Amino acid sequence: MEQTLSIIKPDAVKKGVIGKIVDRFESNGLRVAAMKKMQLDANKAGEFYAVHKERPFYGELVQFMTSGPIVVMVLEGEEAMSKNRDLMGATNPKEAAKGTIRADFADSIDANAVHGSDSLENAANEIKFFFSKEEVI
Ligand code: GDP
Repeated sequence: MEQTLSIIKPDAVKKGVIGKIVDRFESNGLRVAAMKKMQLDANKAGEFYAVHKERPFYGELVQFMTSGPIVVMVLEGEEAMSKNRDLMGATNPKEAAKGTIRADFADSIDANAVHGSDSLENAANEIKFFFSKEEVI
């Protein structure tokens, strides 16, 4: 059994598709072990995306992630990390496979609806970044 971190980004929250996205996870064998809606400030968003600090889009990314509320979740299930990545689709929604979350709900490479941890090590760190042990049920 694995756990991974998922974020419904500001664009998808604004569109009112939280329920539709959560349904993709639950319909595909992933259980929501923790969930909260929150608003990131620039410090918290900057720290979360620190690995991208040197990338040209870092400033835009932080600005976007602080542009409205997000929903942060811990998803649990068999191969949860890779399953979540498959359900999300490619980073650029134009390249995302048909039926994936990004193909169906995302508009652009920055406003791309969801985040998902890309390794088990990152998943463990990202879960700790947002949730205390007691909040993951
Ligand atoms: P992910 O793991 O599929 O989310 O992709 P990455 O880890 O490569 O990038 C992290 C996030 O940075 C993406 O989800 C996008 O929101 C954003 N991003 C990636 N590439 C670009 C880009 O070229 N321009 C902008 N503005 N944002 C980008």
